[in-house]
Amino acid sequence: MITQSQIDEQRSNSAEVGTLFIDGKPADGHSGEVLDVISPIDGTKLTTIAAGSDTDIDNAVKAARTAFEDGRWSQLAPAARGKVLQRIADRIEAEAVSLAVLGVRDNGTEISMAIKAEPGSAAATFRYYGELCGKQYGEIAPTAPGSLGLIHVEPVGVVGVIVPWNFPLMIGAWKIAAALAAGNTVVLKPAEVASLSLLRLVQICHEAGLPDGVLNVVTGTGITAGAALGKHNDVDVLAFTGSGAVGRQLMAYSAESNLKRVYLELGGKSPSVVFADAGDLDKVAATLAGAIFRDSGQVCIASSRVLVEKSIHRELTDKIAVLAQKMRIGDPLDLTTQAGAIASEMQMNNILANCDRAVAEGAELIMGGERIAIDSGGFYIGPTLFDQPRQDSALVQNEIFGPVLSVQTFDTEDEAVMLANGTNYGLSAGVFTRDISRAHRMISRLRAGVVHVNTYGGADISVPLGGVGQSGNGHDKSPHALDKFRNLKTAWIQL
Ligand code: NAD
Repeated sequence: MITQSQIDEQRSNSAEVGTLFIDGKPADGHSGEVLDVISPIDGTKLTTIAAGSDTDIDNAVKAARTAFEDGRWSQLAPAARGKVLQRIADRIEAEAVSLAVLGVRDNGTEISMAIKAEPGSAAATFRYYGELCGKQYGEIAPTAPGSLGLIHVEPVGVVGVIVPWNFPLMIGAWKIAAALAAGNTVVLKPAEVASLSLLRLVQICHEAGLPDGVLNVVTGTGITAGAALGKHNDVDVLAFTGSGAVGRQLMAYSAESNLKRVYLELGGKSPSVVFADAGDLDKVAATLAGAIFRDSGQVCIASSRVLVEKSIHRELTDKIAVLAQKMRIGDPLDLTTQAGAIASEMQMNNILANCDRAVAEGAELIMGGERIAIDSGGFYIGPTLFDQPRQDSALVQNEIFGPVLSVQTFDTEDEAVMLANGTNYGLSAGVFTRDISRAHRMISRLRAGVVHVNTYGGADISVPLGGVGQSGNGHDKSPHALDKFRNLKTAWIQL
C-alpha cells in the first residue's frame, strides 16, 4: 500500500532519466536537438529529452538487427529468457513508487490510478510473459503416414514499438514483454509528451540482465522519430497504440517501405447501455462516472457515451451529475485526487474546442466544459456532461479523449444496439441489466473488442484487449498477443 509520505519524498526528485539508449548504452541524439518536457501538474519545465532523428532510429534498428541475428537473445533457451523477464518484473516492483511518481509528473494521471495501472501492470505483464516463455510449443500437423509436417513458431526479428502518452509503462510493457518473450529485439519510440518512465524502464531492463541491443529506445517527435521507425526497411513488425490518424499514416509508411506488418490499437467512442432493469442506479451511476471521469477521460476504453432507457434517463443523469460535481480534481500526486491533469496544454485546448463544438451543435451542456484550477498553472478540465446530442454530431461520433460524457436515450433493445454500434469505432462497451438472457444477447450484438456487463473497465493481463472497426487490429495482453510477434514456419519431411 503506497502512502502519501512515500509520494511526497519523490515529488521533487530530479526528473533527469538519461537520454537515448542504443545497443546497451546511453547515447546523445545525433542532431543535438532537445524537446522540453512540461509537467501538466503546474505547467513548469521538468527536463528535456533528446529529439531523436532518422540517424538515431537507424542506429537503433541496426543495433536491434545485430542483436537479433547473432542470437544473443533469440537463441537463448526460452526458460533463460523467462528468467530475465521475471527479474525485470522484480525490479519494476522494487521501484514502483518512484516510477509511478515520475510518470505522473510527466503525464498527470492521478497517482491512485497510476500506481496500479503503470508499475503495477508493467510488473505483472513482464511476469506473465516471463512465465509463458518456456511454455510455447510448436505443432505436428495431422498429415498422412509417410510424411511429417512440423509447424515451428519463430520470432519475427526486429519489432518497432510506438506508444501514446496515457499509461506509457503499461502499454509499453504489453508490447515489449510479449515481443521479447517471443525472442525478438525491439526499438521503442515513446510519446514526446510522456517518455520519462519508459526511459527508466529500458535502463531497468538492462540492469536486470537483458543483453545489449535487445531493447533500444529513441525519444522524439512522431513526425520525425516515429515516422523514421514506421518507414524503416529493416523493421519487421510495428506495434502501435495511439490515434487513428497516426495509425493510418503507419499503414501508408509500411506500404511505401518494406510491407512490415502493422498492428494498431486505436481509439474508441465506447458506449454503456443502461436498461431500466439495471438495478441499483446509485451503483450504476458511480461506475459510469468513474468510467469516463477518472484520469480525466484519457483512457482508451473510457465510456464516453451513455445510452439509457427513456424511463430512467432523468434519474440516472442526475445521479451521474451529482457524483461528478463531488469528484476531487487537481494535484495528481495527492492520493485522494480522483482525476488528475490533462497530459498537455495542446490536448486541453483540443478538448475545450470539442466542448464548444458540441454546444454549437445543439447538445445541452449540463456541467463542465471549462478549464479549472487555472491558478495552478496546470492543465485541468472538470467533468463535463452533455445531454441528448444528435447521433450524427461530432460529440457522438469523434473520440475526444477527455472528461466528456454524452447521454442519449432509447426505447427498445434494437434501438440501443443501433445507437451503440453507430460509430466507426469498436473498442469497448458496457451493458447494465439484471436480465441474463439480454446480457448475453447484447454481448454478441455489440460491435466491440471487450463488453463489460454490470461493471466497467476491470480486466487483467490474462485477457486480450483489442478493437474492431477503426479501433484497430491485433490484440495486446494474454497469450494471443504473442501471435503478433511470431512467424509460423512449416517443415515438410518425407519419411
Ligand atoms: P497519437 O496517435 O497522437 O501518438 C501516439 C504515438 O505516435 C506517439 O508516440 C507519437 O509521437 C507517435 N506519432 C505521432 N505522429 C506520428 C507519425 N506521423 N509517425 C509515427 N509516429 C507518430 O496518440 P496520443 O495522443 O499519444 O494518444 C491518444 C490516442 O491513443 C487516443 O486515440 C487513444 O484512444 C489511443 N489509445 C488507444 C489504446 C488502445 O489500447 N486501443 C490505449 C491507449 C490509447
